[in-house]
Amino acid sequence: MILDPASDWDAVVIGAGPAGSVAASLLARSGRRTLLVERATFPRTKVCGGCLAPAGVEALGNAGFAAALDSIEPRALDTLHLHARLASASYPIDRYLSIERGRMDQAFVDHAVESGARHLGGCRARVRADDSVLLESEGDARVVHPGVVVVADGLAGNSLADREDFAWRIDESSPMGAGAIVDRAPRGSHPEGITMRCGRDGYVGSSPLSDGRWVVAAALDPRSVRSLGARGAVGSVLAETGLPDADDHPTAWKAVGHLTRRRARRCAGRVLLVGDAAGYVEPLTGEGMSWGICRAAGIVPFADRIDRGEDVSGDWSRSADRMLGPRRLVCRGICGMARRPRLLAATLRVSRHLPLAGWASRRLCWSGA
Ligand SMILES: Cc1cc2nc3c(=O)[nH]c(=O)nc-3n(C[C@H](O)[C@H](O)[C@H](O)COP(=O)(O)OP(=O)(O)OC[C@H]3O[C@@H](n4cnc5c(N)ncnc54)[C@H](O)[C@@H]3O)c2cc1C
Repeated sequence: MILDPASDWDAVVIGAGPAGSVAASLLARSGRRTLLVERATFPRTKVCGGCLAPAGVEALGNAGFAAALDSIEPRALDTLHLHARLASASYPIDRYLSIERGRMDQAFVDHAVESGARHLGGCRARVRADDSVLLESEGDARVVHPGVVVVADGLAGNSLADREDFAWRIDESSPMGAGAIVDRAPRGSHPEGITMRCGRDGYVGSSPLSDGRWVVAAALDPRSVRSLGARGAVGSVLAETGLPDADDHPTAWKAVGHLTRRRARRCAGRVLLVGDAAGYVEPLTGEGMSWGICRAAGIVPFADRIDRGEDVSGDWSRSADRMLGPRRLVCRGICGMARRPRLLAATLRVSRHLPLAGWASRRLCWSGA
């Protein structure tokens, strides 16, 4: 039997991405018997550009994850190269790291376990109407009644499928995600930083990993994906930025659904949502992981209040709005511009002749929560 019948958990964290592992580690270190439940068997792949913003790196350090992060040998990225139509410009970026998600997420789960959490892989969780959690693994099923339930199951998670009060509100016009890891530099990629190519059909990014491989990720117009497929839409973006027939981009793009979405609520009763599970804005500026990590880093005081029987739903939502709201507005503005390649190209051309590099990098990089 995979599920331990005697277990009596103070906290159950659903989803072992960066948000879930940070939450589980901190809850375990606060003295709670903590279970970290993950549907997949690790290491697993995850569609992601793999760029970790300075705010996320700092929050990981404060949460005790510095050694775990170092152990996967992240690669420093110092420049963002933006291309739109045939124009381009380069901006310095400070303290961005490039990581491979399979490795990083495994290292973070290991750290959560070292902190005292128990990890249960290959186990699907569902949150029931009374905030109890149904765990299902290899034909075995068990209901647990934790004091706190942290849902960190990402954009494609289904642990809240039975909870209408947490329904998704999805922006159907927002881009769809796609990504892959490749063995050699995609044509037109700059070796020392992030390369981002923007066109009418979306944008395509690439960045180098420390082991010589490359992460490629794209956010694509949903109509183009429907008519051309993910690979066709990527090809169209690359061609628009002067790279026709870029056949060294991967054939096996792994796709995900619409990227901009929010939940009807982010907390109710004993259930707190963190990371993508709480809502997401499309990823051009590469900081979704950092949003989740920063939210998870503040979870313990809220768990303490839930344990005391307080209703924290309003405060949890307000603290999310304070921390992420202004930054997400900036991201929407940047992404809106990326969808107008003619305007973006003109801006890039102009910016090369003005001392705008510092200003642009401060807008493009998220360096503080
Ligand atoms: C194309 C693209 C590019 C991106 N590029 C970047 C970037 O460069 N930088 C950046 O910071 N962010 C980027 N992001 C965003 C980033 O990937 C996410 O914000 C981040 O992974 C969110 O982490 P998380 O811990 O909330 O969820 P996830 O990492 O998605 O983890 C959720 C986990 O929950 C598990 N799960 C789901 N349902 C259940 C269940 N019922 N029971 C148990 N487990 C379950 C899943 O298997 C998964 O392992 C990108 C996203 C996309 C789509």
